[in-house]
Amino acid sequence: MTKNYIAGEWLPAAEASPNINPSNTNDIVGEYARASAIETERAIAAAFDAFPAWSRSTIQARHDTLKAVGDEILARKHELGHLLSREEGKTLPEGIGEVARAGQIFQFFAGECLRGAGEKLPSVRPSVEAEVTREPVGVIGLITPWNFPIAIPAWKIAPALAYGNTVVFKPAELVPGSAHALAEIIIRAGVPTGVFNLVMGRGAVVGEAMLSSSKVSAISFTGSVPTGRNIARTCITSGPMKKLQLEMGGKNPMVVLDDADLKLAVECAVNSAFFSTGQRCTASSRLIVTNGIHDRFVAAMQERMQGLVIDDALKAGTDVGPVVDQSQLDQDLKYISIGQAEGAKLVAGGKLLKCEAPGFYLAPALLTEVSNQMRVAREEIFGPVATVIRAKDYDEALELANDTLFGLSSGICTTSLKYASHFKRNAEAGMVMVNLPTAGVDYHVPFGGRKASSYGSREQGRYAQEFYTTVKTAYTFDGNGPYVHKANPKV
Ligand code: ADP
Repeated sequence: MTKNYIAGEWLPAAEASPNINPSNTNDIVGEYARASAIETERAIAAAFDAFPAWSRSTIQARHDTLKAVGDEILARKHELGHLLSREEGKTLPEGIGEVARAGQIFQFFAGECLRGAGEKLPSVRPSVEAEVTREPVGVIGLITPWNFPIAIPAWKIAPALAYGNTVVFKPAELVPGSAHALAEIIIRAGVPTGVFNLVMGRGAVVGEAMLSSSKVSAISFTGSVPTGRNIARTCITSGPMKKLQLEMGGKNPMVVLDDADLKLAVECAVNSAFFSTGQRCTASSRLIVTNGIHDRFVAAMQERMQGLVIDDALKAGTDVGPVVDQSQLDQDLKYISIGQAEGAKLVAGGKLLKCEAPGFYLAPALLTEVSNQMRVAREEIFGPVATVIRAKDYDEALELANDTLFGLSSGICTTSLKYASHFKRNAEAGMVMVNLPTAGVDYHVPFGGRKASSYGSREQGRYAQEFYTTVKTAYTFDGNGPYVHKANPKV
């Protein structure tokens, strides 16, 4: 059994669960411990006890630790990428790319450790000065999803540790392998006992224990909207108010205007909708296409989709790997049927495929004649299923793009500076892409959305400090001159 790391020790659990390769369900990656609530509480207590010392550790020590983590991840990106693709089902180049990103993120936050933050300001009162400083928050509970098994943990763990917090990390049940490998690297880099804890297990057990603990000061979560709403409710209705950062779903639009470069638009759409098997919160599932290019776009998509190789994630030449598991596959198929029942036309894919090994293979699906009111256009599917929605012109396309509960990423393909600029300004999303896929982001700039997609401050880049630090304002009267009691009487 692959163990949890709690209070400086690798510990087995009473229960374990198999980690199954979605490209070949006969291949078991390993048996991974499933922690209980009591084990989770031990991890939280260890993180709580380790916090005072770690929060005061030197920025050089933290830098060196994070740098070592980043360096080892990058040096082992092929091996770790193989493990990631094997357990999650994204293609090997995607897996290796994701691992490399995790390494870069650790290196970025190693540098951030050394960047001082704070201000010293004159007070409005005589002989008083004000200082604004940032302090670590405390024990941070990190809850991550299965679709980015190492990058999302990296972009939460690295800033948490960089800014002096201690961590209890709960990866998704489906992908404990990458999380475990990452934990080994973090521990090898020399984090003191209790500073970092890995607690694999169920959301309803491990996750809930983190939410209900008064020793946890903040929760950063990435996952579905219903779970995110539940987490928010629990975190603010009992005990101390926890800081919250929730990254949730998307129903990201990609607008294709009449003047778009057709080939580029098709590449952006195929990448956005189907790469990583469409299992990205930034995936585009609504292709909003204006009348003049609509039919040419659909025909070009059909042709391009025929050329996609759907196969074992680890095989060279695979463009799209399997869906992550049976329940996600059932959900994808259910939505394809719902769309057809609502009047959409399935013009490509949507069928189960047989490959050499038994796996969850689905040909990426394209639904046309979709209206923005249909369920397939409103609810997140989280699979290789895209809809095409017709718009009469740019104005209608923009309106449709914004007519959604979500607001994570929003894209436009156009050669018009006027429309591109207008879209950047008016898209109701946290991220806007012009002539680029809606998915695929840099790591040194903020990541996050609006509306039901995100709650709390942004992740990644320098913006991460908003969540992983808390601001303190200190006033000092220096005794040079009289203390003026009435200078600021109201506050
Ligand atoms: P996904 O569809 O990505 O699995 P979920 O929201 O179900 O989305 O899961 C995302 C993460 O949240 C996973 O690590 C999961 O175990 C965790 N989780 C699920 N339910 C809860 C819960 N009630 N409390 C805390 N964490 C949970």
